[in-house]
Amino acid sequence: MLLTLDSSLAAGYHSRSQVARRVSEAWGLQNLYCSACDSDHLTQSPNNTPAIDYICPKCKQSYQLKCSSKWSEHKILDAGYEAMMKSVRSDTTPNLLVMQYSANWEISNLLLVPAFFFSVSSVEKRKPLSPTARRAGYVGCNILLSTIAPEGKLRLVSDGDIINADLVRQQYQQVRPIAQISAASRGWTLDVLTIVSQFGNRPFELSEIYGFESHFALLHPNNTRIREKIRQQLQVLRDLNLVRFLERGKYVMVSQAA
Ligand SMILES: [Zn+2]
Repeated sequence: MLLTLDSSLAAGYHSRSQVARRVSEAWGLQNLYCSACDSDHLTQSPNNTPAIDYICPKCKQSYQLKCSSKWSEHKILDAGYEAMMKSVRSDTTPNLLVMQYSANWEISNLLLVPAFFFSVSSVEKRKPLSPTARRAGYVGCNILLSTIAPEGKLRLVSDGDIINADLVRQQYQQVRPIAQISAASRGWTLDVLTIVSQFGNRPFELSEIYGFESHFALLHPNNTRIREKIRQQLQVLRDLNLVRFLERGKYVMVSQAA
């Protein structure tokens, strides 16, 4: 993997975002690999596939690449709100790659969010565009990266260092069983995972997770049995080998370090 974007490819393009789009897409075809299988390259998706930039020729996983010169692990701008919600609910979201590049076109960070880590909680509705805007009334969305557990933010490039592809693939496989949970119930699993992952390697107690009851109630306003749901999701996370039960009411995250 080379970390330099070839800005000469963008001759004739004027806006910086168009240039970035052009050079990052070309870079991806040369340098991206599939994290879900051992394919060492990705191919361009057909032009009429919205929101999907690349397809793995071997396992058919789809990828979308977003690039920005500004890095924020808090949120990134995405496309239309309704389209995104629909794709989350129907489980058709592609894997998301978020690239950060420097002023001299060097890639400094590249993050991969596996497709099955998107939930309704991670999509933020933006204000409709003003009536005077070219696309008046259009409602876009942000992806709230801060709501996604660290297990769902795999680093392919971290502060200018290339992470070993085998390690990235291993991390992908560790969380992949989450994809087996139906899109309708996966949101809860991911929301509980985000909270328990905050404890890192420190064992935690059920009462500590109950402490987030109001947080879960905000995310799931129609659910009145929050504590029951928390207990159930801890069992789901145990079955996924992401959480270990230590003793009654006491748990620890299974270390994801290789
Ligand atoms: Zn693949």
